[in-house]
Amino acid sequence: METAVANSFKAADSRLVNLFSERAEGAGADPRKCLKRLISELRRHVGSTEKNPQLEKAQAERKILQIDYKVHWDRDGALEPLGNLFEQGFKLSLNSRVPVTRMRFTQAHEVCHTFFYQYVPEIKFRPHREDAIEERLCNFGAAEFLMPEHSLRRRSSQVAESMESLLGLVATYGVSADAMMSRLRELRLWKSVLHVWCRDKTGQFVLNRVIGEKTLPWKWSDEKIPERAWMSPEYRGSTYLQYEPERGFRHFKSISFDARRQGGALLVLSGANVAAPAKRSGSRGRLF
Ligand SMILES: [Zn+2]
Repeated sequence: METAVANSFKAADSRLVNLFSERAEGAGADPRKCLKRLISELRRHVGSTEKNPQLEKAQAERKILQIDYKVHWDRDGALEPLGNLFEQGFKLSLNSRVPVTRMRFTQAHEVCHTFFYQYVPEIKFRPHREDAIEERLCNFGAAEFLMPEHSLRRRSSQVAESMESLLGLVATYGVSADAMMSRLRELRLWKSVLHVWCRDKTGQFVLNRVIGEKTLPWKWSDEKIPERAWMSPEYRGSTYLQYEPERGFRHFKSISFDARRQGGALLVLSGANVAAPAKRSGSRGRLF
């Protein structure tokens, strides 16, 4: 998976990305390094901090001159040039109905697109198809803008791999648990996996998505566990998940987990290091 992601950034696969990195950094440069440097300069220029990356200032600095908040829209965001030149600026459309953390990630993602307009105008200012590698790079750049590697490396080294730490980092950087988890894994700082469960109409817990692993239709071997986790402020333990790829044939997975309800979802962090009982006294978590 990680190899596939790494390979997918190969500049040679995209003329646009190839030209971007060549012009921004020099022939053969790694497009991620180019974007990382540009983002780092932008953060410094607008005075970004961990708590406040100054997204609005960054947007203005990158010539995003108009912002349109849409109420009924099936997309998260879109960037449109206002003219035929970078200097003429852009209009950013944002879906106002999405959670604020998701909107911030979209804003940072769209800021990254402005670099491609600046460095490769002959492609970007003409009608063109969406470039999958550019999109992935903009996600990488958005993560770097909101959760800079040097800062996250330092902060994550000071905490244990646990749900409490994950939610602490989420609050520090103002991102979603999904985005933080992806970033921690991408930087190989954490090895755990995040399962996000939601309840269906009958109240049963259904796996919505998995960050860090392929999403398979896992079910709890004991439905009482997510029920208890849903009702408790903290819940840790060990159990196994199961799913039936074909009739009469079951897969099982043993997990040590640390669970926390967040709004309408049950977040479950699992991995070798996550279920140790909290060291501080007075923890309300239950171990079974
Ligand atoms: Zn995009």
